[in-house]
Amino acid sequence: MSIQIENVMPDGFLYEREQNLSHGVYGGMELFILPVDTENQYQIQLYTDAEKIEDREAFFEYLETLPQRYPFVYRAGYNGSNMVYVYVQTREQEDRENLTTVIAGLVSRCTEYGVRNCCAHCKNIAPLHAAAVDHTPLLICDNCLARVTEGAEGKPARRENLPLGLVGALLGVLLGSILWIVIGEIGFIAGIAGYAIVFCGMKGYQILGGKISKAGIVICVLLSCLVIAGAEMVSLGLAIYQEFGEMYGITPGDAFRVIPEFLKEPEVAGGVAKDLVVGYLLAIWASYASIRSAWQQVGKEPERHTVVRF
Ligand SMILES: [Zn+2]
Repeated sequence: MSIQIENVMPDGFLYEREQNLSHGVYGGMELFILPVDTENQYQIQLYTDAEKIEDREAFFEYLETLPQRYPFVYRAGYNGSNMVYVYVQTREQEDRENLTTVIAGLVSRCTEYGVRNCCAHCKNIAPLHAAAVDHTPLLICDNCLARVTEGAEGKPARRENLPLGLVGALLGVLLGSILWIVIGEIGFIAGIAGYAIVFCGMKGYQILGGKISKAGIVICVLLSCLVIAGAEMVSLGLAIYQEFGEMYGITPGDAFRVIPEFLKEPEVAGGVAKDLVVGYLLAIWASYASIRSAWQQVGKEPERHTVVRF
């Protein structure tokens, strides 16, 4: 049996056909009435932040006694965050009268205890609107309404531009590798810049490429691995130049050309290997979470809300 709410609404309440619910103001309180078809009940909803009221224990006790006060009330209480609810069993012909009676009783107690409507999202007692957000009827303030509406109408999703993304990734990893080289110059283990290279690469890809696909992520990771090795070589070349440039009158180009020779020295090779191992490990360790979340986000559109104002 489907419960008809339209014919049992208290006076002054409105029926929203599309959402199949009723809402209205009674004694200054805004309430919703929703049918609960499976239970042959109505649910009365009153958005309020009952934690804020001084005598909340007494108010909660009152709610618990509602089934004793009114035989047609099945259950009543507070949801612990923003809503007082009352389940009213349908008795067909009596429904309008029963709903009106329990709402009148509830509202008069609310007035007595200083219970006031609040925004379902931020719980502010600002000017409120009745609305259905993602098919959930609720009271919502101007600020929160603007926020969810923005999400609802949101800009069209950007599409990936792979060539531009590549350019962005390249710029990003180069930026990160400068950090690697600078840290190496200072004499620190350059490896801690490994994460910066991966991070800047993916950011660069997203900024220029619009958004990143799985292929884009793989490209960024491979590019980062190459650039980490490259940055380490540049660091080494610079070190050689600084060490022997003046002594032997060699140019930076010469210094870079003798890198392979230097790598044959166990001491140099050991230092480079240590930098690279630390660099790769740190890059993997630090980037793992962001790569994984980027991977999982691929193809997902930003959350969109449906908002219907009553
Ligand atoms: Zn709000």
